[in-house]
Amino acid sequence: ALLGGAVGDALGATTEFMKPAQIQDRFGVHREIVGGGWLKLSPGQVTDDTEMTLCVARGIVRSGGWDLGPIADRFAHWLSGNPADVGATCRRGIEEYMEKGRLEAPPDERGAGNGAAMRVAPVALYTLGNEELLSRLAVEQARITHHHPLSDAACVSVGTMIQRGLLGAPLRDLRAAAEELAARHPEFRFEGYDGKSSGYVVDTLRTVFDAFFSTDNFEDCVVKTVNRGGDADTTGSIAGAIAGARYGLAAIPRRWLEAIDGGLREELASLAEQLVRNSPL
Ligand code: MG
Ligand code: MG
Repeated sequence: ALLGGAVGDALGATTEFMKPAQIQDRFGVHREIVGGGWLKLSPGQVTDDTEMTLCVARGIVRSGGWDLGPIADRFAHWLSGNPADVGATCRRGIEEYMEKGRLEAPPDERGAGNGAAMRVAPVALYTLGNEELLSRLAVEQARITHHHPLSDAACVSVGTMIQRGLLGAPLRDLRAAAEELAARHPEFRFEGYDGKSSGYVVDTLRTVFDAFFSTDNFEDCVVKTVNRGGDADTTGSIAGAIAGARYGLAAIPRRWLEAIDGGLREELASLAEQLVRNSPL
């Protein structure tokens, strides 16, 4: 799940903010980690999606229990380093934490971005085996920056799909998580998906669900996702996390894993193990 998210981020960063037609002109089908994109990344470089995921994972593992403070501290440290890619809602929430120590952003209609859902995977690992706990903690981590019912629900749904994938549940159980989300918030219905892949968490998850449920392997799922363009590093990252959980490490193309930094790869693998070791499972 963590490595899948990182390769999805690295692959999708190239096509972030592009339109599908531009991607097609330039790459045919974009399926190699080559860097570039609007951030002018080096091949294999990851962005805020993976960096914030690392903050959450490190914060949980180092504090040895559930504590939002160490997670928010890592967000603050990360933001202080002037990252190239940071969403407006994330920035606002982290700055409020730095100024006031506030660990829960106030409800905000602008909070329906995907910046909280993109970093939920470590919480799914840490709560593996307990979906109720997952639902609570996924929302708590989200609200450090995003306080909106659609973001909250998306975090729970993505986390649930990751958990069910990791536990080897049948595909229909993953589908049930997506359908439960759509039953509660019909915006998320992805039948008749219209190709919108923006940073609005509804567009983001519809893009991911459409790709995940219409493919049967990791590579096709992530390739289909990032070729939609838009917020492609984030859709790629979330698709990669869910598909990584579902299909397993061996299904992630070797060339993609080898493209990302070796130190990052090792840290993600080690954090994943430590998170699961601390889970109720
Ligand atoms: Mg990003
Ligand atoms: Mg993005």
